Amino acid sequence: MFSRPNSQSRISCLWRSFTVRLSCWYVATFTVSTALLFALLYLLLTSFFERSERAIIQARLNECAAIYENQGLAALRDAVNQTEFTSSDGPFFVRVTGPLGSVLFLAAPEQWMRQNARQLDTEHGPSTRWFRLPKDQRSDFMLGSMQLRDGSILQVGRSTNRTAALLGPFMWSFLLTMVPTLLLGMIGGAVFAYRATAPIRQVLRTARSIINTGNLSERVPESHAQSELAELARQFNRVLEKNQSLIRGMREALDNVAHDLRTPLTRLRGSAEFALNQDSAEGTKEALADCVEESDRVLTMLNALMDVTEAEHGMMRLQLQRASISGLLEGVLEVYRFLAEEKQVQLTSALADPAYAEVDPNRMRQALANLVDNGVKYTPHGGQVHVNASTVDSRVEVTVTDNGIGISPEDQPRIWDRLFRGDKSRMHRGLGLGLSLVKAVVEAHHGQVEVKSAEGRGSKFTVVLPVKNATNATSEKMPHMTDPGLRP
Ligand code: ADP
Repeated sequence: MFSRPNSQSRISCLWRSFTVRLSCWYVATFTVSTALLFALLYLLLTSFFERSERAIIQARLNECAAIYENQGLAALRDAVNQTEFTSSDGPFFVRVTGPLGSVLFLAAPEQWMRQNARQLDTEHGPSTRWFRLPKDQRSDFMLGSMQLRDGSILQVGRSTNRTAALLGPFMWSFLLTMVPTLLLGMIGGAVFAYRATAPIRQVLRTARSIINTGNLSERVPESHAQSELAELARQFNRVLEKNQSLIRGMREALDNVAHDLRTPLTRLRGSAEFALNQDSAEGTKEALADCVEESDRVLTMLNALMDVTEAEHGMMRLQLQRASISGLLEGVLEVYRFLAEEKQVQLTSALADPAYAEVDPNRMRQALANLVDNGVKYTPHGGQVHVNASTVDSRVEVTVTDNGIGISPEDQPRIWDRLFRGDKSRMHRGLGLGLSLVKAVVEAHHGQVEVKSAEGRGSKFTVVLPVKNATNATSEKMPHMTDPGLRP
């Protein structure tokens, strides 16, 4: 009772399989084209047989007409009775009917005698008329009939094999070849479809495995083939790689947030508690101001972490335009001049070259500001920070040089890490996110950043940017772009 819906659903499931459908289409196309080919052959053979039969009879018809018209009925009789007449392609039926319908001459092989004479009467004209009379299952009588000059009718006929009978073996051979061909087509189609869809099954298997096990490192085996399906597998792997790196980045960022927000949030809580316990309005105000400051710090850190994560994983949306890097630096120096003066650090620049490059001005200003900020921050009183921008070949080079505290050789590779802060910098304000943002932003612009530093003697940061950027610009608005630098 339940077997029917089950088998039905199995069939519909099988039909939904791309491989099965592909092989069915293949077999159907194969069968139709083979049948069409045979039909065409059949038609060609039929018309060929018909034409060759008519040619034989027409030759005899012309021969008889010539004898009759040139030498008379007696000569025709003699000619027809000669063995040469019937020996090749014969025996022939020959009949001459007078203008009034009387039979003047008749030479008919034995088998023709059974024919009703009336069946042989037909319309006549100067050109040959053709008709067939059924004889038995395998053969027909074929007759050509023409009117002679004296008005009598000449008919020449011959027993011919039926086209159907002749083509019977052809039909059989068609069926006999069709069955194995179909079988071969089905097997070939199935194998072909199965092999062709192998990359799709691999993509499916990988996707299922990632969903079931959560293992993001699973990949589709790649081949060097140039087909669309091989390309699909390759592109699928690229998507998986991108997703994995994005998720890894998000996890790291989350770990960083969880770890590094603990301190400011504990401080925030402490300040809030302190505010609650204050009796005087003055004390409460001060504690609340601390709360606001801590909240700002947390927000800045979150925004910076988001920016770094986005940029590091190629998700930062850049609004590229041709901008003067010297112009951007002038704006940055304007902001830091006061801070440098206050700290008695000499802030100088050499920005004669406008140094045009295709950049996102807001992002680039933020990155450059971080470098200048660090220069001023890590250079003691009386020190110097020098900023330079110039175009070299098809690159813009920016250097921020200071003669401050410098960076130890062990710390130099680590300064680009998120939330890394050197031991000597602990007494300075900072989040340890400035240089990771610089690196991420510069690399998002297809540029490079490097440092040369000697402890106690100073550091030189060099940013190299391509004048023309290959990054695609988007029109979306960027979310966290307000501060020129990462100053909490
Ligand atoms: P932050 O300055 O907030 O600590 P950064 O990511 O900007 O974070 O810098 C990371 C570390 O690199 C700093 O803590 C400091 O130790 C070192 N550093 C960066 N710039 C300089 C510089 N100009 N001179 C000396 N040390 C620097």
